[in-house]
Amino acid sequence: MEYISTRGAAPALDFAGVTMAGLASDGGLYVPREWPRFSADEIRAMRGLPYAELAVRVMLPFVQPSLTEDELRALAQEAYGRFAHAAVTPLKQFDEQHWLLELFHGPTLAFKDVALQLLGRLFEHFLAKTDAHLTIVGATSGDTGSAAIDAVAGRERVDIFMLHPNGRVSDVQRRQMTTVRAPNVYNIAIDGSFDDAQAMVKRMFNDAEVNTRYRITAVNSINWARLMAQVVYYFAAALQLGGPDRKVAFSVPTGNFGDVFAGYVAAQMGLPVEKLIVATNINDILHRALSTGDYSAGTVTPTAAPSMDIQVSSNFERLLFDCGGRDGVAMAEQMRVFETTKAMQLTNAQREKAAALFTSARCDGDEMTRAMAWAKNNCGEIIDPHTAIGLHAARHAGIDPAVPVVTLATAHPAKFRDAVERATGQRPALPARMGDLFERAESYTELPGDYDVVRAFVESHATPSQ
Ligand SMILES: *Cc1c(COP(=O)(O)O)cnc(C)c1O
Repeated sequence: MEYISTRGAAPALDFAGVTMAGLASDGGLYVPREWPRFSADEIRAMRGLPYAELAVRVMLPFVQPSLTEDELRALAQEAYGRFAHAAVTPLKQFDEQHWLLELFHGPTLAFKDVALQLLGRLFEHFLAKTDAHLTIVGATSGDTGSAAIDAVAGRERVDIFMLHPNGRVSDVQRRQMTTVRAPNVYNIAIDGSFDDAQAMVKRMFNDAEVNTRYRITAVNSINWARLMAQVVYYFAAALQLGGPDRKVAFSVPTGNFGDVFAGYVAAQMGLPVEKLIVATNINDILHRALSTGDYSAGTVTPTAAPSMDIQVSSNFERLLFDCGGRDGVAMAEQMRVFETTKAMQLTNAQREKAAALFTSARCDGDEMTRAMAWAKNNCGEIIDPHTAIGLHAARHAGIDPAVPVVTLATAHPAKFRDAVERATGQRPALPARMGDLFERAESYTELPGDYDVVRAFVESHATPSQ
């Protein structure tokens, strides 16, 4: 498969190239030149496969010729072997219509593990062939950081520098990052907010001096390989609920639009999808964009679902590109307007095409609490705040009662146990595999919110690219 940039001016790359690059050189995001498509018979033949094998079938068209089928199988088996549940992403029933897809059985208790466990192995695989060294620099509000660190800790040819806002992530999230003892892992607690940390990371990606010495890459969902890995569980869930001979709807707690875009990809590949419900909290730029066409960023309000506290959803550009006729020049202009004014209007074509598959809902704190109570009282299930927002949207989206609706459970409730306890009166226990998380020693470096200091720290610890 060949990949092209949404802004039309970066060179086309193969799968290995887009995995290592992250962002395209013209500021755009890479997408496959065309969507691979399965027939209904081909999808039917995927029923009952073990998760890793289903992953091979769904991902193979995207990775060839950079990987052989056997190489992909070996990487998928290793990555999904690290999950605590044999089904990897088990499906649970709520009531006649509603289902829960548990995506939190990986090592760090959020769905980010599904993609990052694979991505860490892809980095190592491709680097071994080139002899190069990679420096991952990222900012995290919690979940991406812990999943990325777990995925690359101790791997050769990769260093990871992860910035988190000092004192502003949950204790479980922080400990999942700072108790990992490996010589290639550097945790940095920055004085400031997540946005401050993110701004420093962006500045480093554009710092020519740093980039001549180090090969810097991103692990957030601008990286195509992450989205690709997430397409698999949409197939897994639909196949269990009668797909491809029955349509299924999905409700997705959304921040950066990565997870729900993977559902869009599944639909383009031939999976019959009734609707994709984009669930947002009160930071509702995506709900406004999809319901009125107005994509304009406000300021972020902190909520009990911090991984969705976002005002600029990077992956939305991939949808606008595809729905707008794949015109890179027009997309570059639309994003230029957005980047200078923090606002833009969707075109009629973008709105109409998106509306055919997407619907959206905004969920405030009271509605989130009620959804958690409903799950507890009716089904005996304790769900996390992000999942609760998805469930609220699922139950209020007006989907035909004959169509099953799957809510994506994006985090384990224990990861946000203070918020869960406030909403349900019950404090979820950490799963046994987290065992001694609170006994392990922490290690991190506290730095001021000063770019030059952070840059000097990275340069004094990173390994040059060759
Ligand atoms: C990252 C995250 C989200 C948002 O996912 P996107 O792909 O950014 O839309 C939702 N819930 C949890 C728990 C997360 O960690």
